[in-house]
Amino acid sequence: MMSEPPLERPNYRPIYLDCHATTPVDERVAAAMLPYFTERFGNPSSINHAYGWEAEAAVKQAREAIANSIGSGAEEIIFTSGATEANNLAIKGAAEAYYTKGRHIITVETEHRAVLDPCFYLQKLGFEITVLPVTKDGLLNLDTLEKAIRPDTILVSVMAANNEIGVLQPLAKIGTICHKNEVLFHSDAAQAIAKIPLDVGEMKIDLMSLTAHKVYGPKGIGALYVRRRDPRVKLAPQIHGGGQERDLRSGTLYPPQIVGFGKAVELGLTERVAEGERVGKLRDRLWQHLQQLEGIHLNGHGDRRLVGNLNISVEGVDGSALLLGLQSVAAVSSGSACTSTKTTPSHVLKALGHPDALAYASLRFGIGRFNTEAEIDRVAEATLKTIRALRQAQSRPSSPSLPNKVNAK
Ligand SMILES: *Cc1c(COP(=O)(O)O)cnc(C)c1O
Repeated sequence: MMSEPPLERPNYRPIYLDCHATTPVDERVAAAMLPYFTERFGNPSSINHAYGWEAEAAVKQAREAIANSIGSGAEEIIFTSGATEANNLAIKGAAEAYYTKGRHIITVETEHRAVLDPCFYLQKLGFEITVLPVTKDGLLNLDTLEKAIRPDTILVSVMAANNEIGVLQPLAKIGTICHKNEVLFHSDAAQAIAKIPLDVGEMKIDLMSLTAHKVYGPKGIGALYVRRRDPRVKLAPQIHGGGQERDLRSGTLYPPQIVGFGKAVELGLTERVAEGERVGKLRDRLWQHLQQLEGIHLNGHGDRRLVGNLNISVEGVDGSALLLGLQSVAAVSSGSACTSTKTTPSHVLKALGHPDALAYASLRFGIGRFNTEAEIDRVAEATLKTIRALRQAQSRPSSPSLPNKVNAK
């Protein structure tokens, strides 16, 4: 699928419907970031002069905005390079800090690779990993979770919103189970931040991974929320050095990115309800269009999902042919963008119990802030046209050597 790039790149820009992979930086976010590249370039750790102070003040403001959006204290936000690093810090950091208590970690089949792979890495070091299945809707069954918890379980990691099928896990219920059993609860909320209500107190979340670039902020910046009381979570740092971020993540802070992250979250929060309604309508419109054809299935739960997500499996067509056919009109993804270098069907769709063939012909539409109704209609039309064409081509004899009888009625 990720073949060699074409020698000549076409000069069209297809309609962007891949908001689970990344989003454009909102102009207002970019404007807020700009001064911190140039005149306000100070190092927030420079405590001896005004350059440091103004950078520190900007970082503080962003930290508070982010904390505010998840109901945490500002001092519980640890800036990282993104959700991948936050997941690594949470999982490996907790494993290293709590291994004397136990070496069992629980996670879920539909997690992002940035959760699964740190877990599998720990498995090689002697930890035991339980990867729980999901229902055919993509939801974690709470009884299954409760039964999997053992006296030596130290951490449960369940994502807030899935990056492929948009499914929202019941965080508050999972948190209650974890706290009752005195097990830490980590949630990868890369897709959820500023899109669904998040409250680390109500949801009893101990560790939460965040990123800016899925909510119209810049790439390369994220954070880990680390609970400081009830319980006070211990973590072993994974990057050692100057002792920034309460010694949990060394390295000079990056004010332009941090300011952008803060601004993106602030905007997302202010506009969440109105935007959710608008984007949800666009998603429903797309789904309505697509249902004109037979053999198109929705992947993941019908309601418990991100408003901008539509993930479908299409019967009777080849997945990469479908993408290729759509390429000039829509920038969409099949499965997860992060694994699209591999041609294996997505592990998330597999976890829903789809046979491989069906998992292949899947499309993920990620609708966002800047999409319009006209764009949705165009993409729907192109998708229907492509599916019809591919199905028709398939029903014709594929090779001239085939006897005509094969397709004769
Ligand atoms: C995008 C994404 C990540 C990776 O985040 P980065 O900030 O790009 O490292 C992790 N988990 C989920 C669920 C994501 O959607």
